[in-house]
Amino acid sequence: MNHYSGIDLLDLDSQLTDDERQVRATVREWVDRDAMPEVVPAFEDARFPANLVPQLAGLGIFGAHLEGYGCAGVGPVAYGLMMEELERADSGFRSFASVQSSLAMTAIYDFGSEEQRQRYLPDMAAGTLLGAFGLTEADHGSDPGGMETYAVRVDGGYRINGSKYWITNASIAGIVVLWAKLDDVIRGFIVDTSLPGVTTMEIHNKLSMRMSVTGGLTFQDVLVTDDALLEKTKGLRSALQCLNSARYSIVWGVNGAAADCLHTTIEYTKEREQFGKPLASFQLVQQKLADMAAELSRSQLLALQLGRLKEQGKLHWSHVSLAKFSNTQSALDIARTCRDLLGAAGITTDLSPMRHSMNLETVNTYEGTRHMHQLILGRHLTGFNSI
Ligand SMILES: Cc1cc2nc3c(=O)[nH]c(=O)nc-3n(C[C@H](O)[C@H](O)[C@H](O)COP(=O)(O)OP(=O)(O)OC[C@H]3O[C@@H](n4cnc5c(N)ncnc54)[C@H](O)[C@@H]3O)c2cc1C
Repeated sequence: MNHYSGIDLLDLDSQLTDDERQVRATVREWVDRDAMPEVVPAFEDARFPANLVPQLAGLGIFGAHLEGYGCAGVGPVAYGLMMEELERADSGFRSFASVQSSLAMTAIYDFGSEEQRQRYLPDMAAGTLLGAFGLTEADHGSDPGGMETYAVRVDGGYRINGSKYWITNASIAGIVVLWAKLDDVIRGFIVDTSLPGVTTMEIHNKLSMRMSVTGGLTFQDVLVTDDALLEKTKGLRSALQCLNSARYSIVWGVNGAAADCLHTTIEYTKEREQFGKPLASFQLVQQKLADMAAELSRSQLLALQLGRLKEQGKLHWSHVSLAKFSNTQSALDIARTCRDLLGAAGITTDLSPMRHSMNLETVNTYEGTRHMHQLILGRHLTGFNSI
């Protein structure tokens, strides 16, 4: 078993509480012992290791940031550290946990009635009920406001028609938090995926997030009862509120992927000799390692500061946009540079950087692409909507 002790050049550990360090140690140990051995076979087979779901639940990861309803109720930094450890193994793990927790459970927690919270959250925290978050459609990605899925009122409930695409957990979820227009306003609905008229499909030819399930959902005259509506949802901003919670987990998660790449590459370049010397002794190699360590340190500082702001109730969406695109880009750059330093060995699944790099392509795109977050930050800085 690989005893990973982290890359922490700035001694950020000293800024963590004992509880936060303990949470990280527990998840880190599980990742090294139970998750790491599953990652490569699952990635190669494009298969989600569902056997690990009960263990993830046992670690308290699902809805860890929520209070009550069987959730662990840890603080934002501890939650971030959990995400960082999961993504150190593979972005597919963090993605799975983050869709369950930050998107589906958060939507029900923030916008659901007490009855809806009681009905769904304990099972979701226990991992016996899986959730998906259906916002994107095939023709509406960066512009979800243009969605065509709609609901109409009928006796005792709503009839829903439309389809969603690129949805994580689509074919394994028992419920989907579905965003649809009702009287031209985007609202959230909790839809049981076993209802008549709901069909799911899986996207099989992905080169990225291969161990995460991604697919589509179609809704044809699906009848849901009144209590499917998340009453407190009020337009696209409600969906974006959930996305901000998931983006926060990305800000931390990608540092785990980057740290794993850097750790792997430092170890490899110390062992691998060319021209009679270890690669790690060449100036050009050390320059790259130093640049990557500096980049990772900046991303770690950013994540920790966001966590502390969140604790104090001061986290603004502009902070999340800044850190989502910036930390993801840094992690992607680090993964690509590490792959380069590994030479031919770096193109296989024997070493992690290319796998992380392929995964991070998705992280760069989903939950708002890099461009979208730059535009959001640009508007915040200038007051102008871009043209
Ligand atoms: C593996 C995976 C899992 C996903 N899981 C989910 C999920 O669980 N739930 C969900 O709802 N969605 C999910 N998504 C969808 C994801 O959120 C969308 O892919 C993302 O929002 C981008 O939309 P798009 O792919 O349609 O790209 P597009 O919107 O078509 O964008 C293509 C390119 O054009 C750029 N672009 C678009 N508009 C502008 C503009 N105005 N100015 C400048 N550049 C622009 C983009 O930045 C991008 O580079 C997932 C995607 C993937 C790949």
